[in-house]
Amino acid sequence: MATIAFIGLGNMGAPMATNLLKAGHKVCVFDLSETAMAGLAEAGATLAESLHDVVKDAEVVISMLPAGKHVEQVYLGEAGLLGALPEGTLVIDCSTIAPETARRVAGEALHRGIDLLDAPVSGGVGGAKAGTLTFICGGEVDAFDRASPILNDMGKNMFHAGPHGAGQVAKICNNMLLAILMNGTCEALALGEKNGLDPAVLSEIMRQSSGGNWALNVYNPWPGVMDGVPASNDYKGGFLVDLMNKDLGLAFDNADRNKAPIPMGALARNMFLLHAQQGNGQLDFSSIQRMYRGAEKG
Ligand code: NAD
Repeated sequence: MATIAFIGLGNMGAPMATNLLKAGHKVCVFDLSETAMAGLAEAGATLAESLHDVVKDAEVVISMLPAGKHVEQVYLGEAGLLGALPEGTLVIDCSTIAPETARRVAGEALHRGIDLLDAPVSGGVGGAKAGTLTFICGGEVDAFDRASPILNDMGKNMFHAGPHGAGQVAKICNNMLLAILMNGTCEALALGEKNGLDPAVLSEIMRQSSGGNWALNVYNPWPGVMDGVPASNDYKGGFLVDLMNKDLGLAFDNADRNKAPIPMGALARNMFLLHAQQGNGQLDFSSIQRMYRGAEKG
């Protein structure tokens, strides 16, 4: 069992840290929010008073932060953790950030003899709670091998995508596809309903046919069709439209840099930007269904 510092206890980080505690690791946690910290005290974590306090005995540091600027603040610069960690520490950053930022932080870590993996995740809050996340890693193979038993306590699938930043590239591609599939699924369901079809029946037909996809399998966007998903809970919780827009922004920047055309991704991004502009940024991303269905029907 390892001594682990866990930084960032939001929707994803809190259940991930809880699963590490359940697996028997010694976990010390830090978040800027005291409320987030309090939840972890009940689960048996040690609460740190500061960023530097959380890593003082750590063999492994895991972070789950909102965006690249938070990751840079935590690791880089005079006050950053990389300057304080002993050589040989393993750092696993699970946040979804730009590949360039991941490479910059990894480069600084390498310079100081610290192993760093970018390890963004897929599987959402449900996967984080159930311990079934997919980890998509970039970095040295040795670091990946070292991290695997720990990631295994929070997830069920682990991929080594390639060198530093490759995990983020794969994650960006995946989330762009997810955004496209969610829009397409919502569009098809709304068309069927306008023709008088029952959305539950149509969902099952498409799920078993060539239109089948992840949204239809486990995240149906039509209210009441599937239990336990945000669509059946007023689109609360889950993966926020604002976070999807952050990820689509990363895809856009990356496509621009690589001169890669992404017409479908661009359309999906504009749909989610419009949806956020209409006040839905803090709803789950499957709430884009409302745009296709007509707001008056909710
Ligand atoms: P969140 O906003 O719920 O949590 C982030 C936490 O980080 C907050 O509690 C915040 O207080 C803390 N934080 C911010 N700056 C900090 C700092 N300097 N020091 C310590 N704590 C700090 O976000 P989330 O939903 O948990 O997502 C985290 C990351 O995972 C994001 O990059 C997101 O894109 C990615 N992700 C989210 C989901 C999802 O379904 N929510 C799924 C896959 C990936």
